[in-house]
Amino acid sequence: MADTDLETRFERHALPLEYPFGISRGTRSETEVVTVHVEDGDGNVGIGAAGPSAHYGETAATVEAVLPDLLAVVEDVGDTHQLERIERRMRETVERNPAARTAVSIACHDLVAKRLEVPLYRYWGLDPAETLETSYTIGLDDLETMREKTETALERGYGRLKVKLGTDRDIEIVETIRDVAPEVDLFVDANEAWTPREAVARIERLAEYDLEFVEQPVPAENPEGLRFVYERSPLPIAADESCVTLEDVPRIADRCDIANLKLMKCGGLREARRMISTARAHGLEVMLGCMTESDASIAAACHLAPLLDYADLDGALLLAEDPYDGVPMPDGRIDLAGLERSGTGARLE
Ligand SMILES: [Mg+2]
Repeated sequence: MADTDLETRFERHALPLEYPFGISRGTRSETEVVTVHVEDGDGNVGIGAAGPSAHYGETAATVEAVLPDLLAVVEDVGDTHQLERIERRMRETVERNPAARTAVSIACHDLVAKRLEVPLYRYWGLDPAETLETSYTIGLDDLETMREKTETALERGYGRLKVKLGTDRDIEIVETIRDVAPEVDLFVDANEAWTPREAVARIERLAEYDLEFVEQPVPAENPEGLRFVYERSPLPIAADESCVTLEDVPRIADRCDIANLKLMKCGGLREARRMISTARAHGLEVMLGCMTESDASIAAACHLAPLLDYADLDGALLLAEDPYDGVPMPDGRIDLAGLERSGTGARLE
């Protein structure tokens, strides 16, 4: 099934967020994504997208700058079914642009599953019943707004919330959320904001609020600090900024409980599957997270849900508008069995 006449194109979209999205490093009110289309000679169109993160050195402009080289790799391989070779050659071509590579990886996986007329999870041999509920993120804001956002999240049926921390009022924030949502599954993300000693002291107080775990308490540049916190924390620790690529998994294995992977950090769907297996081999639990992204890329991440312990795939739920539609998420539950389309399920609304 070689593709002799592949056609490729890409376009940039600026997508407004429903609320300004605040984390310890800053606040944004829109996100820029780049969608990629790979079309075969039979009219099947694979859709993917990059949700670049400036924290990892990528922007929509850097994605657009390298996409011609990455799409040239796909055309040169000439057979979109050779996903392993495509991902490997893309990495050899532009190592430092994982979101751009992920966009192409997703588009090729979507195209292959569409050609085979199966949803992506089925191409991978996964059970759609083993799906998960995504967490929904409450970004940093003033306390009253965070309270309102939490109330709205509960009204929408979300049963697992993630709260951004890393401020001088972290305890008040969690107290406020718990006041509104005493029963909800809840975890927090400090996005590297604390020093190791601060983190231990804060987590000891946060542990009174029935939290599931704490994500990225200290800067990734301080791996010993992460170990210091892990060895003293009364709550489980998840590593996000400390866990970027496959090579990071063994490095964090003795200093956290949960590896938080993201497609936009690791560079592709096959690479993400290798990271999941490697994390399991090291005894870690696995969460798949995301950036603020369109459903053109979130849809693909959803198909990995049966392999995960935690799904943090609310990227498109945080948007005010998204030209794409993906896997249905009634009340935040990733409904793979309810997806009645082949491929990732991403399509223009
Ligand atoms: Mg995080």
